[in-house]
This record gives sequence, structure tokens and C-alpha cells, in this order.
Amino acid sequence: MAETAAESEKGPPAPPNLRAATDENECEQCTYFDSGACTHYKPLTVANEWTCDSFKRPQTLRGAAVIVKQHFAERRKAAEAAAKK
Ligand code: SF4
Repeated sequence: MAETAAESEKGPPAPPNLRAATDENECEQCTYFDSGACTHYKPLTVANEWTCDSFKRPQTLRGAAVIVKQHFAERRKAAEAAAKK
């Protein structure tokens, strides 16, 4: 689709809800991240620890490892919370 003159003047859209990540879904783990830049909302330099609502986990072993790590971190937190009761 051709971009309108107004879109071209505004530049590319910003990542929705760009913010500091509070979990492991960081830009650095996103499929669109490449050497400090977001390739989905290019050209945009992003920090490793940021994230946005377009975060997409890569379909790689690394992505799977992050899911497993998150799972066990959540189980550990739940066990620690249960032990305090
Ligand atoms: S989370 Fe992904 S899509 Fe969003 S700004 Fe970071 S690299 Fe880009």
C-alpha cells in the first residue's frame, strides 16, 4: 500500500506503548530486534530492556529457552509465596 503524503511527513509509526520492560519480553528478545534497532518500526534505535505491545517472541530455541526460564521463575515465586504463609 502506498503511503500518503501525511504519513511520509510523520515518518514511520512509533511502537505502541513503548516502555521499559518489567519481564523478560524485552526488545532484545523480540523477533524484530537487530543489533540495537527495531526492524518493525524502522529506523528506530531501541534499548535492550525496552518493550512494546508489538513484542513477538522469536520461533527459535532461544525463544523457547526464555519461555522455560519464565515458567520456572514463576513456579519459584509461587513456591516462595506459599512458604511465607
Ligand atoms: S518489542 Fe519488538 S517491535 Fe516493539 S520496539 Fe522492541 S523490537 Fe520493536
